[in-house]
Amino acid sequence: GAAALAGSLEGLNQQFVPKLHYAKGNYFSVAGRAPFSRLVYPVPEPGGLGVHLTLDLDGVARFGPDVEWTDQLDYRVDPARGERFYSEIRKYWPDLADGSLQPAYSGIRPKLSGPGEANADFVVQDVAVHGVDSLVNLFGIESPGLTSCLTIADHVAQCLAPKL
Ligand SMILES: Cc1cc2nc3c(=O)[nH]c(=O)nc-3n(C[C@H](O)[C@H](O)[C@H](O)COP(=O)(O)OP(=O)(O)OC[C@H]3O[C@@H](n4cnc5c(N)ncnc54)[C@H](O)[C@@H]3O)c2cc1C
Repeated sequence: GAAALAGSLEGLNQQFVPKLHYAKGNYFSVAGRAPFSRLVYPVPEPGGLGVHLTLDLDGVARFGPDVEWTDQLDYRVDPARGERFYSEIRKYWPDLADGSLQPAYSGIRPKLSGPGEANADFVVQDVAVHGVDSLVNLFGIESPGLTSCLTIADHVAQCLAPKL
């Protein structure tokens, strides 16, 4: 929502509002217990980290995310995308049984770079960039935005109150 929100601000020169590219990431879960006690990260793919394994607090295994470029904010997971997951997961879990994956959930990465382009960094704009006092724009805060959130928050606080 960051670009739409910034786009609605009358005092902001719209040249500072970038075009966002949506890269949906779908996850699939596996019925029963997976034979892993740790996360598994394969080599990253363009646009994302690759189909990795995470375990939730109940020990349920989830695989994902993939990269599905889209224009829509539609969070439904297409079951057909599971087919590609089998081959990816079997690279590190050859015994994964046919039919054991089910659609879990999805998220949508708000990317500043489109398909085939080099990954863009996060963009933080303060008054020094756009000239609007007390406005800090954050664009393209996709992965690893969660990992980075405390540092980003400190940075935003400094933008708003540099003397503190
Ligand atoms: C598939 C996927 C995998 C990811 N993997 C990782 C990972 O492994 N590690 C990592 O660190 N990060 C990861 N991320 C990135 C991480 O999820 C984001 O960087 C983080 O959630 C961004 O937080 P945020 O608060 O900026 O935005 P959001 O979490 O998107 O929160 C913004 C909120 O604002 C609300 N909103 C929007 N417009 C308005 C409006 N006009 N008025 C009021 N509210 C509004 C939205 O509803 C939303 O609740 C991943 C993201 C995706 C999609």
